[in-house]
Amino acid sequence: MEIPVRAASHSYSVTIGKGILNEAVAAVNDLFAKADKIIVLTDENVWSAQQSYFEANFPHAFRLLVMPAGEKCKSFDNYNAVQTYLLEQKCTRKSMIIAFGGGAVGDLAGFAAATYMRGIPFIQIPTTILAHDSAVGGKTAINHALGKNMIGAFYQPEAVIFDTIFLHSLSEKEIRSGMAEVIKHALISDAHWVEELLEGDRITGLPEDLLANYLAHGIQVKAAIVEQDETEQSVRKYLNLGHTYGHAIEAAAGYGRVAHGEAVMIGLIYSLLLSEKYGKVDHQFTKRFLHFAIENGYPFEAVQEFTFEQLTEYLLKDKKADYGQLQFVLLETIGQPFVQKVELEQCREIDRQLRALLVEVQQ
Ligand code: NAD
Ligand code: ZN
Repeated sequence: MEIPVRAASHSYSVTIGKGILNEAVAAVNDLFAKADKIIVLTDENVWSAQQSYFEANFPHAFRLLVMPAGEKCKSFDNYNAVQTYLLEQKCTRKSMIIAFGGGAVGDLAGFAAATYMRGIPFIQIPTTILAHDSAVGGKTAINHALGKNMIGAFYQPEAVIFDTIFLHSLSEKEIRSGMAEVIKHALISDAHWVEELLEGDRITGLPEDLLANYLAHGIQVKAAIVEQDETEQSVRKYLNLGHTYGHAIEAAAGYGRVAHGEAVMIGLIYSLLLSEKYGKVDHQFTKRFLHFAIENGYPFEAVQEFTFEQLTEYLLKDKKADYGQLQFVLLETIGQPFVQKVELEQCREIDRQLRALLVEVQQ
């Protein structure tokens, strides 16, 4: 299946399906024909799990750099190592980067491509569920010691090729993490879809066809938003539902221990509680959604490990915080997001409600 992304700066397509790598690469042969060198950037976990399928189905000669796995590849040191490699390989403005991995590889490779010689083309070949989100839309970044994703660029890929075969080697934790972003896409767009998810099977054990269908749906939601607002001046903010409080949990826990999407799920519950106050979301819905999240194994125990004061430090670092005031994406009703400024005292009260609800629901 092909999904067009018509971003203001540049249009491209996302191809998604099972076993499509070879065919989808052939379909964008004109991009490859222009490239003088092809550099595949991947990480050690992805490469050890998927090397043989990739090599058997990627039809071009390439040079390979295997990077440290996960968030570690988004360090300044690794960014430097990648640029050194590109220079050593005598890459030019016509060289093409392939980001083969999850969101971490994609963010790093995209930023390396955006900045090497002021920008060279790159293609995303995502390998995680989460990357149905991160590989589309052109946000690229690396981390700074003082904050995650603080150094980056908006830079769109030339194409996204999403072969769902790569998802077979994901751990349950990574499936759960990625599904939180799928659920986020449902919450900001479509109440019926949310119902279907809540009523459906365990989200870590979805039939493959249904999963592919949900991923395509999520990509369509994201593409439609990015087409309206590539650089997050307005509606793109909706994609941050659950991310303000989620990022604080993720950062406080130390990156990696609570996966990005696991933290986002905790943040989604927090935004539902805020949405009861500022929108029309019903408390019964929040409770039902929380039951669903707990049954699916999201690690809510992480909340109890920190005080609100500890989380505040991270909440205030949020890129959406304007002049010290916090901005949240909330839901008027399911499927209808809006942006709301919230005072810190109110955040503290909702944090207290979240902790009380967790005790109530888990008893
Ligand atoms: P990740 O890339 O760190 O991958 C998670 C783990 O799974 C890693 O250890 C990785 O090595 C391993 N892995 C990846 N694919 C695998 C496969 N097919 N088989 C076995 N193991 C595999 O994490 P992620 O969840 O994909 O992405 C998270 C990152 O994405 C964060 O850095 C986050 O900031 C970023 N992100 C970016 C955007 C964006 O719009 N650019 C959006 C959301 C998240
Ligand atoms: Zn996210």
